[in-house]
Amino acid sequence: MSLSRRDLLKKLFLWATGGTVAGLILGPWFNRIAFKRRLWQIDPDKCTNCGLCENACVKFHSAVRCVHTYAICGYCDLCSGYYRQGTAMLDTAPERQICPTGAIERNFIENPYFEYRINRELCIGCGRCAKNCEAFGNGSLYLQIDQEYCSHCNQCAIAAVCPANAIRPTEASLPYLLKGG
Ligand code: SF4
Ligand code: SF4
Ligand code: SF4
Repeated sequence: MSLSRRDLLKKLFLWATGGTVAGLILGPWFNRIAFKRRLWQIDPDKCTNCGLCENACVKFHSAVRCVHTYAICGYCDLCSGYYRQGTAMLDTAPERQICPTGAIERNFIENPYFEYRINRELCIGCGRCAKNCEAFGNGSLYLQIDQEYCSHCNQCAIAAVCPANAIRPTEASLPYLLKGG
């Protein structure tokens, strides 16, 4: 049975509008599934703070940031993640700090306690503080991909070069792999 031109146009119209409606309904669902698969995160137990996170990320200044788990540590007067080794004075002079951008804020709490807070706007994910914290402290400073800065690439450019195989996909419901969390 052959279709008339009018019937054929009608069928094409129904097919096209049906596809559009299905797209509108199913699109967000597919996006959610895809987004779920595209979240990347650093396993803090595997990361060696090698320094590649700062420049391997496709984002300028990296999507990686240092985070701090205060339950582990974070109130010492002499913080090995904040001060260069062998520093004589415990003040906030830039030359005594490990961080190249001044992203770690040292705030007095009460004698002898100070709180070390990361300024996300200034942190570039270089990992220098985390490396020193791991070597001489308790490892309370460590790196995480900040999901607000991350572009959620299909293949994380850092994961492709990470020597410790520390970056892996994670569930959207678990965007951070926090120590002790
Ligand atoms: S590249 Fe891997 S090991 Fe190096 S700092 Fe980034 S996550 Fe850690
Ligand atoms: S040393 Fe590097 S990783 Fe640590 S806070 Fe400063 S910029 Fe961020
Ligand atoms: S997924 Fe892309 S934007 Fe996010 S950390 Fe990896 S390379 Fe950077």
